[in-house]
Amino acid sequence: MKRSSGKVLKTLGKFASRGGQVALTSFALVLSLTVASCSRESDRFAGDTYRLPWPDSEGQIALRPVQLKTLNDPENFEGSAARILVEPAESSGRLIAEKPRGRYIRSGSGTMIPSNYATLQAVTAYAHQEKLQSFDEKNGAATYLKWPLTIGLQVKVVDRGAIVNNNAIYDGKLDALLVVPYSLSDLPIALNGGILAHEHFHFIFQKAVLDRIGVQQSQGCQHGIAQTEAETPSAPQETETETGLDLDLGDEESIARAADEIAPGVYNAFLLRAINEGLADFWGWSYSGDVEFVGRSLPSEERVRRLDLEAGKLMDARAIRQSLVDLRRADKVIREDYRIGRAYLLGTQYARFLKGLVSALVEQGTSPEVAKGFVTAALVKALPTLGTAVVASYATDYISPNLILKPLILNLPDVKAPVCTALENFRATETGYQKPAACSGGTQ
Ligand SMILES: [Zn+2]
Repeated sequence: MKRSSGKVLKTLGKFASRGGQVALTSFALVLSLTVASCSRESDRFAGDTYRLPWPDSEGQIALRPVQLKTLNDPENFEGSAARILVEPAESSGRLIAEKPRGRYIRSGSGTMIPSNYATLQAVTAYAHQEKLQSFDEKNGAATYLKWPLTIGLQVKVVDRGAIVNNNAIYDGKLDALLVVPYSLSDLPIALNGGILAHEHFHFIFQKAVLDRIGVQQSQGCQHGIAQTEAETPSAPQETETETGLDLDLGDEESIARAADEIAPGVYNAFLLRAINEGLADFWGWSYSGDVEFVGRSLPSEERVRRLDLEAGKLMDARAIRQSLVDLRRADKVIREDYRIGRAYLLGTQYARFLKGLVSALVEQGTSPEVAKGFVTAALVKALPTLGTAVVASYATDYISPNLILKPLILNLPDVKAPVCTALENFRATETGYQKPAACSGGTQ
């Protein structure tokens, strides 16, 4: 979700920090009424109601009763939707945790009240996984995933020797979501349903697309946040490249020539990252209904990631390749930072376009909720087509940035002029582009 700059993250640290343990201990002292000794073997807790920070239909979060149908082991935060591991470490390719146990107070009316912060975060994160499971079932995505999902909270991730804060990382190798400690004063990521849904989509994209080409998403530090324009280096300073190209920064001909030399795999990895992030942002909005769910936890990202703005026009494949030539001129670290930032910016365009499709359907007379469901389901149906095309050409051809658009439109049940206009305004201008038949067909 959030960009952790640098090429690879991921050294998972050891178990709970001393500070974390102290904090939990003091919670336990304050909340000495804690009564939980919930038995692990029983599922007598399934169907219980919990008091959790939860959004209403307007997205306003307050403590509300939330019924959880599948959390049959609240002491260990486990049920058929997810296993929540607090302060886990990696062992033999798996996440393990010597976790703080769930602690609850049962109110007079039977509601389970988390009695420390770790429990509150873990149960809320679980609750969102259960709701996301229902969301997936409704939209056709549930079959891609292996349930229960593995979610790590308060995960110690080290990047370039420093602990990463304020981030969430889907790790394709572990097939797990890692939420790292949150140090800002806004909505913690573990409680942010939109961000959890964004990350959830990465599980789906991994299975539907990336697994087919053997790419594990977290290899490339997939989870950045697009930098703000002011922070994004617009003109990398170095002229030497790994490949030995020595470009004159002002020489467009050299850039065009070098763009033609960019390997399809390099370009395609960049484009898939952008598409993955963009579709994930749409998923976050579709689940949460909140156009600024990213900014609620990460205010610095609010402007570049909010979804109620125009998508703009997609770059064509050649323009994208040229942007990668620029990147090759920077040193490796700057290049990676810049590349991730650019991928997020491109991704945001896809997310805004998808939301624009919902608006176009509403303009055609569909109700907003139904329209959102149509686009979300169409997106799921389009993923196999994208996956097949990617398998066929990942190493050999430049994938068109338009590739995902046609199957999306084909899977919408009712395509009229507003949808076609949204598509035409967004798609990259490329030769060989074929309009969906519903938008009058023909090639350009
Ligand atoms: Zn992401």
